[in-house]
Amino acid sequence: MPELPEVETIKRSLIPKILGKIIHGVVVYLPKVVKNMTVEEFTRRVAGKKIISLERRGKYLLIGLSSKETLTVHLRMTGKLLVLSKGCLKDKHTHAVFDLGDVELHYNDVRQFGGFSFAMPEVGPEPLEEDFTIDYLRTKLKASKKNLKAFLLDQKIIAGIGNIYADEILFEAGLSPKRLAATLKDYEGEKLFKAIRKVLTLGIEHRGTSIRDYVDSENRQGGFQHFLKVYGKEGFTCVRCGNLIIRERHAGRSTHYCPNCQK
Ligand SMILES: [Zn+2]
Repeated sequence: MPELPEVETIKRSLIPKILGKIIHGVVVYLPKVVKNMTVEEFTRRVAGKKIISLERRGKYLLIGLSSKETLTVHLRMTGKLLVLSKGCLKDKHTHAVFDLGDVELHYNDVRQFGGFSFAMPEVGPEPLEEDFTIDYLRTKLKASKKNLKAFLLDQKIIAGIGNIYADEILFEAGLSPKRLAATLKDYEGEKLFKAIRKVLTLGIEHRGTSIRDYVDSENRQGGFQHFLKVYGKEGFTCVRCGNLIIRERHAGRSTHYCPNCQK
């Protein structure tokens, strides 16, 4: 699933290709990718509008239109936005095609969970922005009844962290995913804060993690999968201590960690 670094990479790859373009029309092949409105309403609200901004909020992509409306795209499990040449053949998993004049923007989604809406995402602060501070994190940790895995996955606390980066962040911080958030000492909260910033920044620098489906708008894979230390590494030895990485289920998600290094 695209998380913050992947959606940020997609955004950066889309900006030079679609910013300033006019949406001449859109064809929706699968109505369920349009959320909370009819396809007719969706088409009417986007057709003829210019794309004036592209931003990311958590795992959402926000497309600002000249009508002052913001189109929200959530890629969920397998959504992709691909910029392709005009009139090219449509993939069988392409569910909407935007006519941008000289190019087309294809929304492709094998699992069909993602799509478009005009609702603004209700998410917490951006972990790489200034409003995400060590004090904010400590306050949220102390007030939480969750374990650290569930805490990091809660989009209302911090925007954009999913399963892969949560596991990598906890390894970087040396903290167990089973640990209750409220039990962290101040220095451990600081380690978590630094790990969140470090791992997400590295993820963006390597243009995201391609394990299954993720590609940017030019169909290019990311590179961070080569730097993962625990995610998907069950049965491999820990790069820090040599013990085996294990996989357990926490917060309803597959969780990878080193029981020796992460306390
Ligand atoms: Zn270890």
